[in-house]
Amino acid sequence: MKYALVTGASRGIGRAVAVKLASQGIPVIINYQSNDQAAQETLEEIQTAGGQAELMRYDVADEQAAVAALDAWELAHPDDYIAYLVNNAGIRRDNLMFMMPDHDWHAVIDTSLNGFFYVTRRLLPKMMQRRHGGRIVNMASLSGLKGLPGQANYSAAKGALIGATKALAQETASRDVTVNAVAPGFIESDMTRGLPVDELKKQVPAGRFGRPEEVAALVAFLCSDDAAYITGQVISINGGLYS
Ligand code: NAP
Repeated sequence: MKYALVTGASRGIGRAVAVKLASQGIPVIINYQSNDQAAQETLEEIQTAGGQAELMRYDVADEQAAVAALDAWELAHPDDYIAYLVNNAGIRRDNLMFMMPDHDWHAVIDTSLNGFFYVTRRLLPKMMQRRHGGRIVNMASLSGLKGLPGQANYSAAKGALIGATKALAQETASRDVTVNAVAPGFIESDMTRGLPVDELKKQVPAGRFGRPEEVAALVAFLCSDDAAYITGQVISINGGLYS
């Protein structure tokens, strides 16, 4: 059976993606870092709707932990494989660069970029061997396309993720594995809570923040059979904020 792994699926956009994929009959692995309660809520939301899901707690930036968890999952699921991978886990630690501490630079890159690398490298061989509609979707950001002040770390991580998406897409296309990135603008989630929402909304032509479910719909499309010929792309979802 083909499974989906969604990293950072306990909250926000990742939760919405997990719920959406599960609603389409895909069994989902809910990865998260530490928030057991939020992860449990995601699991229950899926199960209540009749979907199939399981939890997998590990820090994507910790390669040993990620590989150990995925090794154990494969042992327990000899007839299954992860065909859909959504690299969504991410954090922000904003600061002007001249004041940015080392650990905030590294933490953001370790999560969004190195996390993508560790998890994807571990899953790629099987995805490519199967030659059966593998899908990788990487959660980038408007910040990685345009650059945003106060986010040199985050823009660097997301910009690099976009570069890696384009490179990897060319490595895997002949094996029927697509690799795309999604670049959201401002989306309602814990990550954007505390931002000056009313001021920021005025900058968005659509006049509002996006909803996690709207991003999830785009990710689900990129994971579908209908998107088989789309690869190496960055799709923005930002209410017209930037193109
Ligand atoms: P969020 O509400 O803060 O949720 C972050 C999720 O990532 C949580 O499930 C969290 O798990 C998980 N996570 C964080 N670090 C992790 C790690 N090291 N290992 C495993 N899981 C980890 O964020 P969000 O707004 O949904 O953002 C999701 C993605 O979209 C991120 O990559 C973000 O950069 C990107 N994005 C968001 C926006 C936006 O406006 N919200 C815009 C552009 C791009 P715990 O619950 O265990 O902490």
